[in-house]
Amino acid sequence: MKIYNTLTKSKEEFKPLEEGKVKMYVCGPTVYNDIHIGNARPMIVFDTVRRYFEYKGYEVNYVSNFTDVDDKIIKKANEEGVTCREITERYIKSVKEDMKAMNVKPATVHPRATEEIDGMIEMIKTLIDKGHAYEKNGTVYFRTRSFAGYGKLSKKNIDELESGARIAVNEEKEDPLDFVLWKPKKEGEPAWPSPWSEGRPGWHIECSEMSKKYLGDQIDIHAGGEDLIFPHHENEIAQSEAANGKEFATYWIHNGFLNIDNKKMSKSEGNFFTVKEIGAKFPLEVLRFFMLSVHYRNPINFSRELMEATQTGLERIKTAVFNLNSLLKSVEDKAMSEEEKKELENVAALQAKFEAAMDDDFNTADAVSVIFELVKLANSTVTGQNSKEFVQKTADEITKLCDILGVVAEQEEELLEEEIEQLIEERQAARKAKNFARADEVRNLLLEKGIVLEDTREGVRWKRV
Ligand code: AMP
Ligand code: ZN
Repeated sequence: MKIYNTLTKSKEEFKPLEEGKVKMYVCGPTVYNDIHIGNARPMIVFDTVRRYFEYKGYEVNYVSNFTDVDDKIIKKANEEGVTCREITERYIKSVKEDMKAMNVKPATVHPRATEEIDGMIEMIKTLIDKGHAYEKNGTVYFRTRSFAGYGKLSKKNIDELESGARIAVNEEKEDPLDFVLWKPKKEGEPAWPSPWSEGRPGWHIECSEMSKKYLGDQIDIHAGGEDLIFPHHENEIAQSEAANGKEFATYWIHNGFLNIDNKKMSKSEGNFFTVKEIGAKFPLEVLRFFMLSVHYRNPINFSRELMEATQTGLERIKTAVFNLNSLLKSVEDKAMSEEEKKELENVAALQAKFEAAMDDDFNTADAVSVIFELVKLANSTVTGQNSKEFVQKTADEITKLCDILGVVAEQEEELLEEEIEQLIEERQAARKAKNFARADEVRNLLLEKGIVLEDTREGVRWKRV
């Protein structure tokens, strides 16, 4: 498996720190509004990376934070006259809904910055003790020049950075390149006690600490959008490596940006969409499939036409699987013919091609093309004369490859009315027999299929939700 590493600017063979395991940290959103479709890109892309590792048999420990203390959150809370906590709770709930609708798996852990302040204070203390940080008037700064490797990720030269840095009047920093680890509170801001002042952490230290706490000093992969390379990830490396004395992450991977109609997405230009806005127009699995149609390092252009084309493509896949599943009900359960066995070799070759694409720096664009090749093959070869085993294997292959990308190819069959009535009767009988466990089981089973029961005086009513 090869991964493009921003740190070395080259594709490298993936070698985990520990055999069979992947430890990865993905910088998460600042929770002050509904996420936009640009924020959705790293979520979908790195969830797919995770799924592919899992498919390959790795155990993935996937950590992604919520930044829940930030100027934008404070501003929003003041505008609405509510607490920061109300804002962050609201938007964490919102982002979780969006993730579910895009079939992004919950992380192994979703730490929140405000719940990890003690650890951040400890890390800052270590940095001060080691001479990598200093305090001035309640603020703690990282002494950038004390870290020899500064600039290694973004390929920036420290002296060039220095000459470009603006030196503000009354600068309390020793050097304009130094950045904040801890800052004292201003009136009306959330704050925590610390040895230096009542205040809050800087953004970069949050990720260094949460990654250390949940994954250890060293991790395999650190990921995020390409805008985070500098200064965020550069500063994370400086803090973590200075504090822990070890290489932080082996691979740094970054997604390209999403543009709209070939222009930068921006609120002021009016070309700005939240995931929820797109969700009102398209099923969000279409957005996921769309994101994967382009290699994650390239820019991706979003437009209604491209989304419509993606939706048509996805429907083609689903229809093929639906047709195969329908055939399964009528085809003969007989031994596979020699011809079918040969045909399955072509199917296996396509799976190998899919894996080769994914092994080459997660080339989902090529992987998606392979799925379409497979669908074409299925549509042109499978008929009612085939054996059940052959039809099943072909359907399973399409479903499996889609599943690796987090795309559901198999529509769940809706329960028929008579099946619902039958289950309701079974539940009533279970209740009569005081077998409440079974009665609940049936109710939950119906719920999973989108059927809600309502017990009324006239009997049980049901509706689809
Ligand atoms: P933020 O909440 O701004 O820190 O962003 C959360 C994540 O979304 C980061 O990994 C950003 O790099 C990423 N991101 C923000 N805007 C875009 C965009 N237009 N295209 C792709 N990724 C983006
Ligand atoms: Zn981060």
